[in-house]
Amino acid sequence: MPESSLSITTSCILSLEMPYSERLCIRRTVYRGGNGPRVAIVAGIHGDELEGLYVCQLLADWLERMARENPAGLTGTVELYPAMNPLGLDTLTRAIPVFDTDLNRNFPGSPSGDLPKRIAHAAIGNLSGAALVIDIHASNIYLREIPQVRINTDFADRLVPLAQRLNLDLIWLHGAMTVLEATVAHSLNSVGTPCLVVEMGVGMRITPDYCRQLMTGILTLWKDLGVLAPDVELPSLNHLPLIADDSNVHYLNAPTSGLFVPVIEHWTDVRKGQLLGNIVSPLQGGILAEVRSPVDGILFTLREYPLVYEGSLMARVMARKGRLA
Ligand SMILES: [Zn+2]
Repeated sequence: MPESSLSITTSCILSLEMPYSERLCIRRTVYRGGNGPRVAIVAGIHGDELEGLYVCQLLADWLERMARENPAGLTGTVELYPAMNPLGLDTLTRAIPVFDTDLNRNFPGSPSGDLPKRIAHAAIGNLSGAALVIDIHASNIYLREIPQVRINTDFADRLVPLAQRLNLDLIWLHGAMTVLEATVAHSLNSVGTPCLVVEMGVGMRITPDYCRQLMTGILTLWKDLGVLAPDVELPSLNHLPLIADDSNVHYLNAPTSGLFVPVIEHWTDVRKGQLLGNIVSPLQGGILAEVRSPVDGILFTLREYPLVYEGSLMARVMARKGRLA
């Protein structure tokens, strides 16, 4: 067996000519070790969400160190797709600019459709058949989210056991009625390729602690699946997820417009009736509205951007329902 059996290649899965003689390239880096399973990380589907790009960098750094120090430790293949929507990332836009469409509403795509459809088609063609795909999203710029996995209940039997190993704080099960079908995750799960959707942090920012927390979970899952050799040493999991579903998540929407000023930290225990923040007006003293928790639970979403309009989401509280076994 050769001393180094780990190869690293970067290539385009789709290259399209742009109107001004530039080319759009959807890049991936592939780390090929042994003949074990193939796994993939997808990020940057939304151009204003950067947390997943940093997770890809952390994983690339880890895999390059493996290539130098323990190439036999990679027993399968890892594919990193850090920037599925490069035009959006270049212009700090959630959607694909010019086409003004959310890439994650264009799956499974088409080889002869417009640019968003072609990106989606190329992605599905390359990701299908993987042992596991993880699609990493951040929140938008308005809300801060704890690291979580969101799962369509139709696929819960297969995905929840995987999600439990991802070292995140929450598994949020969504009823099939509320699930969007044109996402990369739904398209892959529908053809039998397991895809976990991670959501964490806040838009246009990175949260390094969350990224490292997720990285530990990803490496653990890769080892579980046989992508990494059994003797590869990893940090222990240090987060156990709570479970939320449509029955125990409470939404707090602004009763009036103004500035929302929280008085509590994100991801803390709250009691029913506890003050979470106040809505105030920049034009007058005093408080327009107090925001209080409707239940005993955990504050898992908290508004990051202070301006609110009547009806704006300020927080989500999860009533306690117990931990996964
Ligand atoms: Zn997103």
